[in-house]
Amino acid sequence: MSKTDQTSKQEIKQVGQQVYAAHKRYKEQALRHRRFRHQHIVPLIEKLQDNPLFDVQVAGHSVQGRAIYLIKAGSGKTKVMLWSQMHGDEPTATMAVFDLLNFLSVSDELDPIRRQLLEHLTLYFVPMLNPDGAEMYTRRNALGIDMNRDALRLQSPESVLLKQLRDDLEPTFGFNLHDQSRYYTAGYTALPATISFLAPAYDYARNINSVRDRAMRTIAGMDSVLQQFIPGQVAKFNDEHEPRAFGDNIQKWGTSVILVESGGQHGDPEKQHIRQLNFTTIIAGLYLIAKEDYRAFALEDYNFIPENQRHLYDLVIRHARYAENGRETLLDIGINRLEVDAPNHMGFYHSSAVEELGDMSVFHGYEELDATGLQLVPGKVYDQALERMDELTPALGTELLKQGYTTIRVRHLPGVLPDPSSLPLNVTGMESIVNHQLTLDEPANFILQDDSGHAKYAILNGFVYDLQGNRPELFHGLLH
Ligand SMILES: [Zn+2]
Repeated sequence: MSKTDQTSKQEIKQVGQQVYAAHKRYKEQALRHRRFRHQHIVPLIEKLQDNPLFDVQVAGHSVQGRAIYLIKAGSGKTKVMLWSQMHGDEPTATMAVFDLLNFLSVSDELDPIRRQLLEHLTLYFVPMLNPDGAEMYTRRNALGIDMNRDALRLQSPESVLLKQLRDDLEPTFGFNLHDQSRYYTAGYTALPATISFLAPAYDYARNINSVRDRAMRTIAGMDSVLQQFIPGQVAKFNDEHEPRAFGDNIQKWGTSVILVESGGQHGDPEKQHIRQLNFTTIIAGLYLIAKEDYRAFALEDYNFIPENQRHLYDLVIRHARYAENGRETLLDIGINRLEVDAPNHMGFYHSSAVEELGDMSVFHGYEELDATGLQLVPGKVYDQALERMDELTPALGTELLKQGYTTIRVRHLPGVLPDPSSLPLNVTGMESIVNHQLTLDEPANFILQDDSGHAKYAILNGFVYDLQGNRPELFHGLLH
């Protein structure tokens, strides 16, 4: 490696540190959680229209007629197009894009970085490519089509638009911005793949031409920046060729494609730190492109990034004893808490499922519980029914959990079932049959007790309650 390569590698890390540290100044305050919609970003885009730095236009419309915008900034020779949220329920990078637009709009001590981008690049942003999907918080568009399998057939207006923008602008680089499952680890480690990258393959043989090569080197540089903030939590998406996907095709059409996937991180359910990491790594990528400093990174640096493995669960309980049919087994239990959309799509609650049983020594949990010496018994149903829901207080919930109950019957359930996110216990009506037997793909409601039958932990809807301690903040039952 030459001395100048060393200098470039140092420089980009410093750029990363500076923008990471300053992110809160540019953070778009109108977007605070993942379930925002088209109506929430339109005013932000309209505000940009007043700023001569930006050229804003309506580039096209979604199936349901929502405007999709193209925002242009900068006047440099290298064109870069960035599009986000082609999957409606993958909004993290859209938040980061608005932070980035704020970053470009101001003047402060980061001007040298800002100037590099605006003078050497022409940036084209397409935030929220799938506004109809965002409205319902679904992956697919209003036709039920996954845009990322529509790059060839082009049956969705959103897909036609993306293809047309690519062909009209012919950008040198493209940033394809997505979210991925939070259950990926970075390789065979216990660490989540908080950010994953990919320079998609344009053929089945996964050949590397100069277009893909450039993307790989840029990713290697973006990775080096992220390692400063989330060491070991960056991975690579599988590079199997998907002939119908946009990333693969745009790479084939001659634009160097950088896929950025926002995964999970412990303690960041709304992905606000991951948003900051996105902001940082995208600016770093743009800076590397502006200065052509991606050349300082080797393909080996890219190959060295570990691949995504699906090895994570929300909760892994280890070494629990479980008796069934007269046989006692030693079990590890992998539990996930799936997000269920609240009726208006503006919030969500959790619904748990047991997703693995047996020897889970190769898997990891965001949360782990050592149940050595404890017996797992199914949660019981408390049959002395309450009259109404509001009689179920947190104190009563805790008392019943200590007695081994995870579900209570309520005589008069409301006609419209409320959001369950504050329920201290599962609630059901008078007639239903409830079975909390430990079963794959079924909800996780059980008690871990010691040999004398004392309940030590309650597992309610996949949440762990250490019954000697306080009720955890995130903890709720379900209505059945
Ligand atoms: Zn996606």
